[in-house]
Amino acid sequence: MNIEENTLSLLEDLPKTVQLVAVSKTKSNDEIMQAYKSGQRVFGENKIQEMTAKYESLPKDIQWHMIGHVQTNKVKYMAPYVELIHGVDTLKLLKEVNKQAFKNERIINCLLQLHIAEESTKFGMSKKECIDAVGVAKTLENIKIKGLMGMATFTEDTSQISKEFQSLKGLYDELAAENQDFNTLSMGMSGDYQIAIENGSNMIRVGSKIFGARNY
Ligand SMILES: *Cc1c(COP(=O)(O)O)cnc(C)c1O
Repeated sequence: MNIEENTLSLLEDLPKTVQLVAVSKTKSNDEIMQAYKSGQRVFGENKIQEMTAKYESLPKDIQWHMIGHVQTNKVKYMAPYVELIHGVDTLKLLKEVNKQAFKNERIINCLLQLHIAEESTKFGMSKKECIDAVGVAKTLENIKIKGLMGMATFTEDTSQISKEFQSLKGLYDELAAENQDFNTLSMGMSGDYQIAIENGSNMIRVGSKIFGARNY
């Protein structure tokens, strides 16, 4: 496994319009630094404690994205530095991010997570909840909603994955037409990022294809 080479060859293959979030959850500082050597500066984590420890010990030009489910009571730990929160899935969470961003004199960028998969286990808002949240967000001064995020069903059926990504892109286009801040559609992981890009993704979250399999 050569992490630096994996990152470089992935970056080479991506259209210039697509930003790569290197998903480094469970991976060591050493492994992250190998990807860093390729020029990669955007990393994604799904646990706030783990992300904060890495933020504190790694170079400060790394941008940290929270891609996992966020518990409201932990927002305060990442509020000083987090670059983008992908998985905002309740109004309560959105308001807490706004409050903590205010305390830190920051504006924190967020994506709303739309539920697109068939599995009931995946988090996310309904279409209507997303539209409502974008409305509420206009009254919150310390957050910016930059777009949407979603996870497709884990299946071999590529036409189903494609259909789910299309529904996310559809809502994204609808909202982007009326919201100047919208510029980010986060969809696609190691197994489905090509399908995501075909369907309009401009931010992919890739872990195992760069760092190898995780042990859980
Ligand atoms: C772990 C994770 C990824 C990356 O998954 P890979 O299959 O390893 O690329 C992407 N998005 C989210 C939300 C994740 O939790």
